[in-house]
Amino acid sequence: MPRPTCPRRVARPPACDYFKPRGVPMTALEEVTLSVDELEALRLADLEGLYQEAAAERLGVSRTTFGRIVGSARHKVAEALVLGKALSISGGAVAWSQDRQFVCDAGGHRWSLPLGSGRPEACPGCGSQAFHRVDGGPRGAERPAP
Ligand SMILES: [Zn+2]
Repeated sequence: MPRPTCPRRVARPPACDYFKPRGVPMTALEEVTLSVDELEALRLADLEGLYQEAAAERLGVSRTTFGRIVGSARHKVAEALVLGKALSISGGAVAWSQDRQFVCDAGGHRWSLPLGSGRPEACPGCGSQAFHRVDGGPRGAERPAP
């Protein structure tokens, strides 16, 4: 039985949600469905070129889970390109990332705050001042002063 999936943080909706080979009638096309979190994994790993650990943080999943998601995504894209299938992008457990996301360096606690609410003083989980932003915002500006 599949486990329920926690929503993955995705920065923005896909620019385009359907790709099809030119000159093939829709009725003759096979279709591959890429979920929105799989597309985001591709964007982070292959477009932004992030290491898996950083990309996993941005998506809000473990490194192992990220590896599985990006592997599945690459397989599907390859299948569409090589075998001439249509590629549909839809579904997936996704939470649009409007909030600023933080991760505590000391204890790995995660929390989020709405945009414009100021820099947090300390980790709400353990009080550590060593934490950083993981949503793609200005990391440097959010780092505590040394
Ligand atoms: Zn903490």
